[in-house]
Amino acid sequence: MTSQIIQTADKVIAATYKRFPLVLTKGSGCTVWDEHGQAYADFVSGIAVCNLGHAHPGIAKAISRQAETLLHVSNLYYTAPQTELAKRLTDNSFADRVFFCNSGAEANEAAIKLVRRYFHEKGEKGRFKIITMEKSFHGRTMAALSATGQDKIKKGFDPVLQGFEFVPFNDIDALKRKIDASTAAIMLEPIQGEGGVICPDPGYLDAIRKLCNDTGALLVFDEIQTGIGRTGKLFAYQHFGIEPDIMTLAKALGNGLPIGAMLAKEQMMSAFTPGAHASTFGGTPIVTAAASETLRILTEEKIIEHCQEIGAYFKERLLGLKSKHDVIEDVRGMGLLLGMKLKIKGESIVNSCMKKGFLINCVQDDILRFIPPLIISKSEIDALMACLDALFKESGCEV
Ligand SMILES: *Cc1c(COP(=O)(O)O)cnc(C)c1O
Repeated sequence: MTSQIIQTADKVIAATYKRFPLVLTKGSGCTVWDEHGQAYADFVSGIAVCNLGHAHPGIAKAISRQAETLLHVSNLYYTAPQTELAKRLTDNSFADRVFFCNSGAEANEAAIKLVRRYFHEKGEKGRFKIITMEKSFHGRTMAALSATGQDKIKKGFDPVLQGFEFVPFNDIDALKRKIDASTAAIMLEPIQGEGGVICPDPGYLDAIRKLCNDTGALLVFDEIQTGIGRTGKLFAYQHFGIEPDIMTLAKALGNGLPIGAMLAKEQMMSAFTPGAHASTFGGTPIVTAAASETLRILTEEKIIEHCQEIGAYFKERLLGLKSKHDVIEDVRGMGLLLGMKLKIKGESIVNSCMKKGFLINCVQDDILRFIPPLIISKSEIDALMACLDALFKESGCEV
């Protein structure tokens, strides 16, 4: 029985998304419910967005309090929530200043504009090239997709923006061969998310930082998926003992409200003078109040520590499955950004999990990705493990 909502949606909404035949109506913690009252354990979190889980009472309160006070006024004026959020972000990161926008793609758009503007202001006008990674994902606006190292994202949108070059992730020699006097920046995700949960080899990010220092190129980290506690630190770069010059955030920053941010050191952000860049909704009070409360809860209530511990447990359990089932090729990731590469396509596993009441997600056809809310419990993980174990057993792929 196809729901009325699905029938109508399929007629009136642009068909850009391949959707599951599921209408979700409410959530609480790590559980969401469909229109028939069926519950699902959510290991997707709106794609690494709802890090504090669904319907978090603290976030709900922050939103409703702000909604009753002031929704929006424009960046012609100062507001307390925007200022408080910027203060929290800069106090807890390498950055001195923040530019607010509304999505990940927009945050990367801002980073790309800042890189170009920075060298323009320095009088190095020919220095605009940005090297990014194969299999990267930086978003869907024209600049962000031009920076993305996946052909399928660009198909049919030629001509893309010029000035981007690509090298394989984890290949420092390829980067050294590609970098030259026209290279303005190296831009990458510290852990590739959409590309298949690919972690940097030991020393790789260090070597990139050194290469940037030696050549004067800026280092831009896209932490849109890895940031906000996802990997067991507030920002993933904090695992590696280095700092970028520019960092982009979005996804979990507002725990479900749409917000993006581009953070930079003073020296770089000073290239953004009045009129250089803008966004009507950027940093609007309602979303920044939610984001501020998200950061407060994450840091003060030890959620990130929990993510570290429970993420290690989760990974151990996934490795346990790997030792039992030949169909699993690799288990990888950090914190609660975990991936399981299969020797078969992942679609049927994802669909079977859904039928059993678990939402998981698959990237690059054969990599199951697990990105639950950071508040996920052991028993919720155990339940998913039992489900996957049975499914792999059924598929007849046991060692
Ligand atoms: C999701 C994502 C983006 C794009 O974010 P949108 O909010 O969808 O524009 C960019 N970079 C990375 C690493 C992402 O995971």
